This record gives sequence, C-alpha cells and structure tokens, in this order.
Amino acid sequence: MAAPFWRTKSLQEMTTAEWESLCDGCARCCLEKLEDEDTGKVHYTNIACRLLDCEACRCSDYENRMSRVKDCVKITPEEQFFWLPKTCAYRRVSEGKGLEVVASARLRRPGDGA
Ligand code: SF4
Ligand code: SF4
Repeated sequence: MAAPFWRTKSLQEMTTAEWESLCDGCARCCLEKLEDEDTGKVHYTNIACRLLDCEACRCSDYENRMSRVKDCVKITPEEQFFWLPKTCAYRRVSEGKGLEVVASARLRRPGDGA
C-alpha cells in the first residue's frame, strides 16, 4: 500500500485539496492564546474567539474572518506552526510526525479508558 501523501510530501508540495483535507475542524486554533514575551511559549486558554460557534465547532463568518478578527491567522504552507496545538495536523506534519496517533486518540470516547 502506498504511503499517505502527508508522509511523502512536504506541506509546500501538497495540492490545495490535500492541504485542506489535513484540517479536521477541531477549532482548537480558535481559542485565545497568550504568548510569553520572554520565552515565546504559547499558552492556550479556554476562551473562544468571539466568532467561533461553539455548538457547530466552526467559524460563524469564515469568509470575512480576517477583516472581523484582526489576529485571525490564515494558515498557509508558509506559516509557522509552533503556535498551533500539538494535535493539529499542520503542526504534526511540519514536525515530521504522523497523523495516526491523533486519529486513534480522537476515536477514543470519554469512559473508554486511557
Ligand atoms: S487546530 Fe489545526 S486541525 Fe484544528 S481546526 Fe485549527 S488548523 Fe484545523
Ligand atoms: S475568526 Fe479566525 S480565530 Fe475566530 S473563529 Fe473564525 S477562524 Fe477561528
């Protein structure tokens, strides 16, 4: 079986469809973050962006997000990924990690055990 594209291509080499398919819509990148000025470390809060629809787990105005939220970041292959959550596929692929662990973790439900 051929290796999946995220193992054989860099983020820059992916087609638009491949790139888009990496995002699982977790919306964790839409949580407010604090960056330590001294260390550059990013801390995630439990506060959602004002445009995040927490019921649907998606941006309520995706088309106009950049003009409505000044620090909304359009994630592109040229972007830096260190600030994204460790489970984010873009960050994992950029760090040379696979996606299989993330997939199995997401399939686990509360109460299923560790
Ligand atoms: S954290 Fe990554 S996978 Fe989750 S919504 Fe944001 S870009 Fe997509
Ligand atoms: S404006 Fe940006 S950060 Fe806010 S919910 Fe929409 S995509 Fe997420």
